[in-house]
Amino acid sequence: MPGKVFLVGAGPGAPDLITVRGAEILKRSDIVFYDALVHPGTLALAQRAEKIAVGKRCGRHSTAQRFINKRLIDAARKHAVVVRLKGGDPMLFGRAQEEIAALAAAGIEHEVIPGVTAALAASAEVGISLTQRGVARSVAFATARSAPGTPAGEWVEPVLRADTAVIYMGAGQAAEIARTLLARGLPPALPVVVVENATLPQSRCLALTLAELPGVEAWASGGPVLILLGEAFRAALPTAARLPATASA
Ligand code: SAH
Repeated sequence: MPGKVFLVGAGPGAPDLITVRGAEILKRSDIVFYDALVHPGTLALAQRAEKIAVGKRCGRHSTAQRFINKRLIDAARKHAVVVRLKGGDPMLFGRAQEEIAALAAAGIEHEVIPGVTAALAASAEVGISLTQRGVARSVAFATARSAPGTPAGEWVEPVLRADTAVIYMGAGQAAEIARTLLARGLPPALPVVVVENATLPQSRCLALTLAELPGVEAWASGGPVLILLGEAFRAALPTAARLPATASA
């Protein structure tokens, strides 16, 4: 009898932001395949499991994904409880679908356990609702990174249409994101908040405008970064940290 694979959301960073269900499965797990952004404290919940890093940062790994799929299937043929532990929520920019499809094709039982996605952690951290009444009624979760073979500009339309936009994996492309959105008519003064390492002790956030967004490339220190845009963040502008004038030039 093959085992079962659980795709578990580890939450945004802080180890106590995993769900109770996710923590229980980790405790029972025999083997855990985990991503680069998973906190060591979260991993420690899997006391008796073999722990295997399949970490990769930032989208450059289409062949590796097939290898991960195969390892999950192989593990399920040997172990009762297999965990695929992913940062945030597995179903948002987590490549869960490829793994689900591979497990289904191999006839392996599987279940997804959701997690707190980074956008919600960032919203909590800056104390600003993504759907403020009277200001924002829609939210887009987007990434400017495109999978090989898909059109590069696909992220733009939903970001333009939504009242609030949250851009994942965008720090390295902040200048290009700003240029694209300004060229499509978003106002240079549109409020933007950037959060790095949300929920971790080294968390930092920055309030700026769309015109200043390119400065984020130099500001970011290598941790995961979210870019949040929209009128909802106007409230953050006077109080949060600002870019030094030189960095925003
Ligand atoms: N499945 C994850 C996202 C994976 S993509 C989720 O639901 O959150 C990785 C991207 O998520 C990073 O490049 C960054 O944009 C964002 N991210 C993840 N953790 C973060 C954190 N603690 N603070 C800020 N952004 C984070």
